[in-house]
Amino acid sequence: MAATTTIEQQQRDDLLRTIDADIAGLTDVMVQGGVAELRRRIIDRTQLDSATAPSAAYFLSDNTGRRIAGNIARMPAIDADHSQSSILHADGDPMIVRATRLRGGLTLVVGRSLASSARLIERLQTVIFFVAVPAILASMAAAAVVAARFGDRITVLNNVFTRFDHGERLARVGLNRSRDDLTALAGNVNSHLDRIDELLVAQREISDNIAHELRTPLVHLDTRLIRALELSVDNRMTSELEHARQDIRSIVSLFDSLLDIALAEATSNIDEKAQFFDLSELAANLAELYAASAEEASLDFSTRIAPGIMMRGEPMGITRLIANLLDNAFKYAPYGSRVRMTISEGPRIMVEDNGPGIAKSDRDRIFSRFQRVGESGGGHGLGLALVRIIAARHGLWSVYEDAEPGARFVICIAGEA
Ligand code: ADP
Repeated sequence: MAATTTIEQQQRDDLLRTIDADIAGLTDVMVQGGVAELRRRIIDRTQLDSATAPSAAYFLSDNTGRRIAGNIARMPAIDADHSQSSILHADGDPMIVRATRLRGGLTLVVGRSLASSARLIERLQTVIFFVAVPAILASMAAAAVVAARFGDRITVLNNVFTRFDHGERLARVGLNRSRDDLTALAGNVNSHLDRIDELLVAQREISDNIAHELRTPLVHLDTRLIRALELSVDNRMTSELEHARQDIRSIVSLFDSLLDIALAEATSNIDEKAQFFDLSELAANLAELYAASAEEASLDFSTRIAPGIMMRGEPMGITRLIANLLDNAFKYAPYGSRVRMTISEGPRIMVEDNGPGIAKSDRDRIFSRFQRVGESGGGHGLGLALVRIIAARHGLWSVYEDAEPGARFVICIAGEA
């Protein structure tokens, strides 16, 4: 373990400093009192120490290498000329020793026992094993639990944004009683979604009112044009009047679509008008109507309708939703293309074609109002907005997928595209 190795090294450095101080002291004794005094001091020190497990080691030899004092039997194999130090594994505890040469060719070896340092390291290892390791594991486990809870709460926040984007105007984060930052963030998310919803409602109200107010005078204007057409004797005048009528009809149909959206959005969920109905039957009837125009447009139109799929909702709304998707497929897929409608368990409604499809960069906005992308089919960009609103009223998501090639629109239960 890195920690114990560092502590071990530090202990050794401390002991070497003590040894060096001892050597310096004994060298001084030698200078002051000669060999006899030095020998006496070493004897004094070794006598006070334990004989079996000494804490300090000494060895003093004369210039022939004969031991003249000390508690080490033999000169350790270290270089005294270079004051080398080493670990000595004698009979007792391991010792750290340093040898040095004194005046007159004498050799002095001083050592200190490493036993206390080894015991300290052992105790430290025990502490690390029984206290620090479990503490680290416990804190890692606690961190994992906290991270998982944090992740779950972030997922909840993300899901609310996704649901709101899919037209669930009432999607909000459930708040708990804790006063942490995430709860504060969830509160902020909710109040901002409330605000966005209010702004959207205000914006819609303006356009709905305009549509309401202008639709009637436009219809009157159209009636006047019909009368003028009856009176017209001039060909150019007749053609101009007919163009004017076409323009008026286009504006009226735009207002009708806006008013349809307003009606569908009046309540965010299906109400008491909702009923259980056979989606398979509704889709099959609709397909019959489209089969004739498919033939005219040379489209290869086919259906795959699982029988008896029941759902709760507004049959008129769902008819409108499927019709809008089919209208688009018929409108944007060129002659000879394939268009397929699939109805399956869920309920899941799928309309796909192998026409031009929608570019990746435009896919995010096609379900918003007034969004026309690619080659315009002469529409106002409100059809898919109505699809999304009707789907959301039924608790369903509207998803665009790449049919490779072509467009695929899937209306399904949240998250099951
Ligand atoms: P519009 O009235 O313009 O058709 P929609 O809201 O129905 O408005 O569609 C929005 C845009 O999405 C269209 O302008 C068109 O570019 C694109 N789009 C819709 N359906 C298809 C499709 N099946 N294939 C290719 N593009 C499509």
